[in-house]
Amino acid sequence: MMTGFEIRRKFLDFFVQKGHREVHSSSLVPHNDPTLLFTNAGMNQFKDVFLGLEKRDYTRATSSQKCVRAGGKHNDLENVGFTNRHHTFFEMLGNFSFGDYFKKDAIAYAWELITSNEWFGIPKEKLYVTIFNGEGGVPRDAEAYDLWLAQGVAKNRVYEFGLKDNFWQMGDTGPCGPCSEIHYDMGPAASDQGHTDCAFGCDCGRYVEIWNLVFMQFNRVGVGERFLDREDNTWKYPSYRLDPLPNPSIDTGMGLERVTAVLQRVISNYETDLFVPLIERAAELTGSLKSSIEHIQEHSPDKAAASLRVIADHSRAATFLISDGVLPSNEGRGYVLRKILRRAISHGRQLGQNRPFLFEMVFNVRDLLQDAYPELNETTQHVSDVVRNEEVRFARTLDVGFEQLKEQIQNELVKQTTLSEEAPGVETATIDVGGPPKFPGDKAFRLYETFGLPRDFIEDACRDAGMKFDTEGFEAALAEEQARARASWKGATKQTANPVYQQLPKSVFEGYLQTRSEDCEVLAIIKNGQGAQELKPGEEGEVILDHTPFYAESGGQVGDRGVLYSDELNAVVAEVKGCYYPVQGVRAHRVVVKSVPSSRTESKSPPSPKGEGWGTLTGDGRKVQEVVQRLDNWPTLRVGDKVDAVVDAGFREATMRNHTATHLLHAGLREVLGKHVKQAGSLVAPNHLRFDFSHFTAVEDEELHDIEDLINKEVLRNEKVDVIENVPIDVAVNEYHAMALFGEKYGDRVRVIKIGDFSTELCGGTHTGATGEIGLIKILKEGSVSSGVRRVEAVTGEGSLKHFRRDHELENVVSAFVSPTFRQNQAKDGAPSSGETSKSKSPPSPEGEGWGTHEYSPAEALKLELEKKDAEIKRLARELDQVRMKSASSSVASVGEKIKDVRGVKVLAHRVDNLERSQMRTLVDQLRDKIGSGVVVLGSATNGSVSLIVGVTKDLTSKIQAGKVIGPVAQRVGGRGGGRPDLAEAGGKDPSSLDTALGEAYGVVEKLLG
Ligand SMILES: [Zn+2]
Ligand SMILES: [Zn+2]
Repeated sequence: MMTGFEIRRKFLDFFVQKGHREVHSSSLVPHNDPTLLFTNAGMNQFKDVFLGLEKRDYTRATSSQKCVRAGGKHNDLENVGFTNRHHTFFEMLGNFSFGDYFKKDAIAYAWELITSNEWFGIPKEKLYVTIFNGEGGVPRDAEAYDLWLAQGVAKNRVYEFGLKDNFWQMGDTGPCGPCSEIHYDMGPAASDQGHTDCAFGCDCGRYVEIWNLVFMQFNRVGVGERFLDREDNTWKYPSYRLDPLPNPSIDTGMGLERVTAVLQRVISNYETDLFVPLIERAAELTGSLKSSIEHIQEHSPDKAAASLRVIADHSRAATFLISDGVLPSNEGRGYVLRKILRRAISHGRQLGQNRPFLFEMVFNVRDLLQDAYPELNETTQHVSDVVRNEEVRFARTLDVGFEQLKEQIQNELVKQTTLSEEAPGVETATIDVGGPPKFPGDKAFRLYETFGLPRDFIEDACRDAGMKFDTEGFEAALAEEQARARASWKGATKQTANPVYQQLPKSVFEGYLQTRSEDCEVLAIIKNGQGAQELKPGEEGEVILDHTPFYAESGGQVGDRGVLYSDELNAVVAEVKGCYYPVQGVRAHRVVVKSVPSSRTESKSPPSPKGEGWGTLTGDGRKVQEVVQRLDNWPTLRVGDKVDAVVDAGFREATMRNHTATHLLHAGLREVLGKHVKQAGSLVAPNHLRFDFSHFTAVEDEELHDIEDLINKEVLRNEKVDVIENVPIDVAVNEYHAMALFGEKYGDRVRVIKIGDFSTELCGGTHTGATGEIGLIKILKEGSVSSGVRRVEAVTGEGSLKHFRRDHELENVVSAFVSPTFRQNQAKDGAPSSGETSKSKSPPSPEGEGWGTHEYSPAEALKLELEKKDAEIKRLARELDQVRMKSASSSVASVGEKIKDVRGVKVLAHRVDNLERSQMRTLVDQLRDKIGSGVVVLGSATNGSVSLIVGVTKDLTSKIQAGKVIGPVAQRVGGRGGGRPDLAEAGGKDPSSLDTALGEAYGVVEKLLG
């Protein structure tokens, strides 16, 4: 019997033998397609090829594609584990023709592969095929019908279905066509409903679709004006027309898991060798508490088996998703991953395993699938760490969730039983009058959603408490949430490229070898998104040239800047501010056509990009500038013009240094931190580089130093940077072991950048000739971008120089600031003696090891100095406080004359500036003690703001409350306040009114007494 591995291999070999190129699976995270949550079909990576936007050097391809369907449109997560054929992760085998062969060959190949004894050898009497019956104005696929019969398929084995089952379209518009499916009869034992003799077409599980052949035959074109359909928030046309495609194409998909079940003669995909080892391992890992698993198996064996299937399935999905760079989070892809992980973990709990276990499954998934997906080898440890982290985190959440559940059940019990006893006649929507109390479904759903409490757990807890579980309410809340999730993902609608670009020819790129190309023809001009014939002086637009040295922004590297120069006019005609790919292969230069210079100011600034500190044109530029000044009339740039395209060489060289440095950094990070480090994004600009990578914890300072040391050693070694062009991708990955990057889509032949034995990467960027050209690489920053992703920023070349110059300036400041006496004192205190302390003699080497003397580095010296100053400041502040308090207290003796008798109550209003609030409180206490019985009002002005405090002795608080006194007084200084009857505080903004306010305090008390 064939193993799953052999079946996958056989499928690919069959099509390779029929002239197909074997293409490696693309990432589960779709490249550049925001409409798609996860890669869900083999054709995803060929979408642009089918649309004619991209050309490959082959027209027939075959692949085994990693796919995930969960969340988004294909939301069948809840079913997985409880059926024979639902999965979150699966492999899709497919063969593709891009305008090469069509229906006839596709049908012949399919029939040969599955029926020939040399290949899959499935008995013909077990097979059915379907064709499109003609519906909605689209004709019946009579051609396919005849072709199936020509293969020897019996007439009564060909069934016809409509648009829903047998017609496929890529989107609202674009390629579409009829399809044919091949189904396999699993026999009556496979019927979920126990049917013993149902016919083909019954969906009880007996007849299983194993292969879908899509015949891309038409182009669906919108007719009329496009409008936004509010119902599902998508753009539509009033009507459509089907035009025949000039080069019809083929796209097929065969689920590996299904066909493996067929060929291994089992009913469920989970009984194949793709799953059995995982299920066994799941049983092992969760069965450590034997008694409980036995308990479950005894009481609900189906449930236990389903839980094991869930764990097996989800561990595959989680392993591949994390390996492709997805991390658990609360939105988008990360949210779906989190749901998958948590569902697997809860099923482990249902089997009695409360400790982390899922992270161990990751290694078994690797063992099972690494032959087909070697990339797993490198990521497993990282994946396992991510999973374990989520298990620990989820355990904490679950504990909180259980507490909540217990509490809510208790509350509901109390509420519902009292309600029904006290008011039996009252009708309420949620209470089943007369029946047992019911736990509301929306509450259950909130616990399920917020804490990930499994539904089963909630149901069990309800039952234990003697409550009913509100199934309908739960289902309704679930449906609502799913609708919301779908709606939110739709937010990102695919931005299709402006049609104007799709017609354009590709530009020949010469920038790997040179920064100047001559006689470049202007093939097209785009102005305001429209094709145009010319750009006038001062106008902005995009220009397509037949050949160009300008690097278009990609792979993290910024697009080149420079100028377009006219030989004929002997002048710069346009400034190029950037270059990018509007569609694959087409390089668009963003330009501004030169306008009449405003004389001198213009003449000073060369026509260089605005790369501050970077953009100075070399040689050419200055010459050009002189010419520019002499010209009176400025040229218009027209389609058909010939120009010289000149890249700003300084800008490019600085960018190249950073790009090559990025490769060294990537390799250095992997060397020091581990092989789990994977690029998650990068920016290569002239002035710095930024590199994001997967790593769990902050990178320690020592680790950063190690990385810096390591990569700068590579620089000093002046290793040659080898560029190997046109390497088949499998050779690059399997022989060169080149690192392919996450989310990046590669063609079939790639460019490999190899730096000695240190770094090998697939890369289309521009690089230095040898590592020595990079200059010093200095890491400036390390930090977190999101959970599990870190970012490093670094500078090279002139950037490093600039950085050190700045540091040096700082050092001079520090030297002036940190006194030699200080250093000497430190030395006396036991710090290593430097012997020489004068600036001129001691080198500013931060780590003087090996030079025989120890000198504080400027940073150390500054730190010591600041610490010392800090302590000094604190001491002084304390002293100042004490002095102020002393003087305020001593003034207490002289306040006698300010104490007035107001209707028999002693009142004192007194000003004490620059006191802290706590000091004012102390002072109020002292004054209250001094007068024995009465009211004390203190005001203080400090730095333009006012503090007020009122104290009333206890014996008077029944007549006078401090809060009532402070209100009107505070108002005077533009503030308000309040407090206890015996003590109230307030603030204010107007120190100039403080004296008046205090003067009025006596009147306020008088009023209160009156
Ligand atoms: Zn049936
Ligand atoms: Zn690169």
